[in-house]
Amino acid sequence: MDFSTYVRDVEDFPEKGIVFKDITPLLMNASALEAAADALFRLVKDQAIDKVVGVDSRGFIFAPMLANKLGAGFVPVRKVGKLPHKTVSESYDLEYGTDTLEIHIDAIKNGEKVLVHDDVLATGGTAQAVCKLVKQLGGEIVQCNFLIHLGFLEGAAKLKDYPVAALLKY
Ligand code: AMP
Repeated sequence: MDFSTYVRDVEDFPEKGIVFKDITPLLMNASALEAAADALFRLVKDQAIDKVVGVDSRGFIFAPMLANKLGAGFVPVRKVGKLPHKTVSESYDLEYGTDTLEIHIDAIKNGEKVLVHDDVLATGGTAQAVCKLVKQLGGEIVQCNFLIHLGFLEGAAKLKDYPVAALLKY
C-alpha cells in the first residue's frame, strides 16, 4: 500500500513555513489504518520487545497497537505535568525556547528492550529526549520507528546510536 496517498500536507500549520504532515486521512480509513499498523510491526517483528514507548500525543495512536502485536507493554512519554506518579524528565530545544518530556520512574526496568515510536521524525529533538529518558531508566533501545521521516531535517543524526525506521521518508 502507498501510505503517502493517505498523508495530507497542510501548509503553514501550526505556524507559517511549516508543512504539517496530517495523518488523519490514514487513521480514518479502516484498511490503511490496519495496513500501517501491520507495516510498523513488520519493521521490528523479529526483535524481542518488552515495552513500546509512545510519544505524546500522536505517538499514542500506533504505539499501543504495536505493543499488542509484539506482546509488549505500552509506556506513555508525556509533556511536563501530565503524569500522576513520580517521573524523570528531560528538556530539549525547540526552534523558540525549550520543552520538557516526562516518563514514570517505574515504567521501564533495567535491561528491558524498548521500541520508541512517534508519528513524525522531524529535527529529532523530541525522539532524542525520549531516548535519554529510556536510557535513564536502564532500558535498551532496539529501534526508533516512525510513520514519517522528514529526512531533509537530518533528525536521524540525533539518533545515530539507534536503528531508525519509518514507513515513509520525505
Ligand atoms: P522533532 O522534535 O523536530 O523531530 O519533532 C517531532 C515531533 O513534532 C513529533 O512528535 C511530531 O508529531 C511533530 N512534528 C514535527 N514536525 C511535524 C510535521 N511537519 N508534521 C507533523 N508533525 C510534526
